[in-house]
Amino acid sequence: MNIKTYLSQKGAVPSEFIEKVKHIVGEENVSERECDLISYSLDYWLYGVALSQYGNLPSLPCAVISPKNREEIQGILRYANEYKVHITPFGGGSGVLGGAIPLDGSAILNLQRINRFICLDETSLVAEFEAGIIGANLERELNHRGYSLGNIPQSLHCSTLGGWISTRAAGQFSTKYGKIEDMVLGMEVVLPDGDLLDIKPVPRRSVGPSLKDLFLGGEGTLGIVTKAVVSVHPLPKGTAKQSFVFPSIEVALDVVRRILRGDAKPAVVRIFDEAESERYFEEIGNKVTVIFASEGEPDFVALESNVIRRIAEENGGEPMGENPVNIWIEKRFDIGLGPVIMQQGAVVDTIEVSCLFKDAAKLYEDMLAAMTAVDGAVMVSGHFSHFYPEGACLYITFAGFPKDQFRYYEDTWTAAMQATSRNNGSISHHHGIGYWRKQFMQQELGASGVELLRRIKFALDRNGILNRGKLVDDGR
Ligand SMILES: Cc1cc2nc3c(=O)[nH]c(=O)nc-3n(C[C@H](O)[C@H](O)[C@H](O)COP(=O)(O)OP(=O)(O)OC[C@H]3O[C@@H](n4cnc5c(N)ncnc54)[C@H](O)[C@@H]3O)c2cc1C
Repeated sequence: MNIKTYLSQKGAVPSEFIEKVKHIVGEENVSERECDLISYSLDYWLYGVALSQYGNLPSLPCAVISPKNREEIQGILRYANEYKVHITPFGGGSGVLGGAIPLDGSAILNLQRINRFICLDETSLVAEFEAGIIGANLERELNHRGYSLGNIPQSLHCSTLGGWISTRAAGQFSTKYGKIEDMVLGMEVVLPDGDLLDIKPVPRRSVGPSLKDLFLGGEGTLGIVTKAVVSVHPLPKGTAKQSFVFPSIEVALDVVRRILRGDAKPAVVRIFDEAESERYFEEIGNKVTVIFASEGEPDFVALESNVIRRIAEENGGEPMGENPVNIWIEKRFDIGLGPVIMQQGAVVDTIEVSCLFKDAAKLYEDMLAAMTAVDGAVMVSGHFSHFYPEGACLYITFAGFPKDQFRYYEDTWTAAMQATSRNNGSISHHHGIGYWRKQFMQQELGASGVELLRRIKFALDRNGILNRGKLVDDGR
């Protein structure tokens, strides 16, 4: 096969390992065919996608293994340790930082066959699923029984529960329902040596440091999540939508801050800057727009809507009605044209960070200025979403038409990450670290934080077989 790999070479896998794994999962579930290796060589990291468009994959796996249950995964990992074969867990492949690309020519562990709905406990309001279930299928299972998880990322149709857990994902309704870490009560994890960890589902516990949290954001480096018990909500009986325009991002942030302190918890709150507002809402144009969607029991929804309207109007908000919210709802699963545009020589990507309210306006301005100053930049815009009483997520979209696409991509990311740290932000709110953002981990955690993560990785994965080269370099 004549495929160039950019980050690492295809690994030589011992044929004995392949034979033993075939014995576990069945011959038809271990593929070394070119089309499968190429299909599983990429996730949604745009740098990798762009490389592939120039005939240069980031990396190529040695095999794609598709187990159907936890016992099979345990067997695979035991043999991987014995034969020193590196393994990369692969959920939906929608990660945007290269977390699922098979560095070192590792074997892909495709988790999508582990995808069953297991049970719903309507008394406790919890449901159990296997971790490879695609988000939209999980919601379908719950919706026709009258419930929802409430985690609705833009990638709902192409990401898995296990991927959400492993990257600490956040859905579009997160201000009311929380992020994935707020929803997971218990889980089953296959550890790198094949042992099983069962974290029982309870609303809270005081039994030392939270082991669950090792895998919420573990990015496939510390274990394979095979099942999870999550909290669910009855489908809302009432909804209300409203929107306002404000004179500046600063005023809009202050209004949202006051609303959240007024005990309101709208499911959707988004502040769009002028450029994004113009792109989304033709009728509004170039003005800072804030949309709100409330849902739940109709009485509460009515009350919450009144609180939002009063505080927005008292602080200079001009009401714009329901329509902008409807437009956003209609477009909210649209997948950007990033890969297509890359083929034309342009670059488009997004970066999400988090910060406290006191730093939010300054961080927005500084990030925009720093990213706009990069040679080749054409457009930088942003919105705030995923709100907390203390702060929010800032989500920036950037586009350029540079002489060198890869240089522009690297320089823009560096400018954005430096601006984030200058303004006390965290380098990621919900996309995680993967391969690409790992270079900024020291900036985020300091040398001692990175070293601590390395030690945890080493303690759990002595042979360094699971998702090597992601999250943190383990120094081996
Ligand atoms: C168009 C688009 C929109 C998006 N919108 C959102 C959004 O609204 N909110 C959001 O949070 N993210 C969003 N993302 C990012 C992405 O969907 C999330 O990071 C998602 O959680 C990844 O899930 P996945 O199943 O695709 O994981 P993958 O990409 O397959 O894997 C991600 C990481 O998790 C590991 N992993 C996967 N499954 C397991 C498992 N069972 N056990 C252990 N490790 C595992 C992989 O090794 C990898 O390191 C978006 C991405 C795209 C392309």
